[in-house]
Amino acid sequence: MYHLECIECHRKYPDNEIIYLCKCGGLLDVVYDSDLQVSKNDFKGPLSVWKYRPLLPAKGEPVTLQEGGTKLYRIDRIAKDVGIKDVYVKHEGMNPTGSFKDRGMTMGVTKALELGMKTVACASTGNTSASLAVYGARAGIPAVVILPSGKVALGKLAQALIHGAKVLSIRGNFDEALKLVCNLCEEEGFYLLNSVNPYRLEGQKTIAFEIVDQLGWEVPDRIVLPVGNAGNISAIYKGFKEFKRIGIIDDIPKMTGIQAEGASPIALAVREHAASITPETMPETLATAIRIGNPVNAKKALTAINESGGTAETVTDEEIVNAQCELASVEGIGVEPASASSIAGLRKLVEMGVIEPDERVVCVTTGHLLKDTQHVLDVCPKPVEIDATIEAVRKAVFGNQESWRSFI
Ligand SMILES: *Cc1c(COP(=O)(O)O)cnc(C)c1O
Ligand SMILES: [Zn+2]
Repeated sequence: MYHLECIECHRKYPDNEIIYLCKCGGLLDVVYDSDLQVSKNDFKGPLSVWKYRPLLPAKGEPVTLQEGGTKLYRIDRIAKDVGIKDVYVKHEGMNPTGSFKDRGMTMGVTKALELGMKTVACASTGNTSASLAVYGARAGIPAVVILPSGKVALGKLAQALIHGAKVLSIRGNFDEALKLVCNLCEEEGFYLLNSVNPYRLEGQKTIAFEIVDQLGWEVPDRIVLPVGNAGNISAIYKGFKEFKRIGIIDDIPKMTGIQAEGASPIALAVREHAASITPETMPETLATAIRIGNPVNAKKALTAINESGGTAETVTDEEIVNAQCELASVEGIGVEPASASSIAGLRKLVEMGVIEPDERVVCVTTGHLLKDTQHVLDVCPKPVEIDATIEAVRKAVFGNQESWRSFI
């Protein structure tokens, strides 16, 4: 029903082979037989990853916490302010562990059991480790995670720890952690669950399926999302392509990736019309989930962007934090900094005239606000400490109205 195939040399591998890259070094894709017949009626159950099981490469019982089924919110106030009519947020922070990584991990850990793997492992900027820890616990197998020391938001670290992963913190960045975990998996026979693993992307492509489903089987004009290791943009694009191939939709949205200015190899490659990226050795941004200088899925992401007529753009950390505060205070949607880059990018691209005012746009907010609260306490006004009397309360509420409202 499906096999693995190299995106460069098109060499094929059976679905039960434990392999992450082609012998030529190319990335692998899960490719379904061309005579695969699936229609809307084959999707059963509530909106979720596993509703789309006929298009997922799993044989046995899934390891699941009922991930996906995240809400699609209109954000009319921000849309009006930005100068565009039709904007939605797909809030992936509402997944079981608070990020879209759960979609990839429910699939990836299900596959790990199917392949008889005994231990799972990943490198992570935080959310991947939280998710792997949870699905490892759910599956009853050990998880090993490698993190860049001091650069992981505390909420994510706490999740990895309490869900029982073996947490290693390296004196190095994410790109170095990824190299190490690849070595470890090769030498020890652990199952690698970074997004270089094509099965992870199979779970994540359901973001595209859900968006179409939630829009009444219509396609938006554009998807805007943060890009770090570039797995998600590749996965979502694959999802739209598969829906088109089986005849559920006719068009594919313009895939639009947003990167932080200090970690933007893909945006730079798109700007320069380059066929490949130039890795950055010292990526830096407060949006730690996208603090990645050498995105492993760059090749797939560039294809997604170019084939769909999309683009990639950078935003500054200041623009990211402003967008995060705006989304939280104006629309009531709490996301972590990396996620807010999609809103910051939307604003910038509308101002640049790249996104047209009549486009229907879906911004993917990838992770929940509570993952990463340290800088929130730095940028928001401090709580006003007062005596426990009604006079003091009244004075504080009405006395200094200007500053009280200034953060809204
Ligand atoms: C992992 C992650 C990203 C980046 O996704 P990639 O697939 O690596 O491009 C963005 N935002 C959040 C919150 C994440 O956890
Ligand atoms: Zn190859």
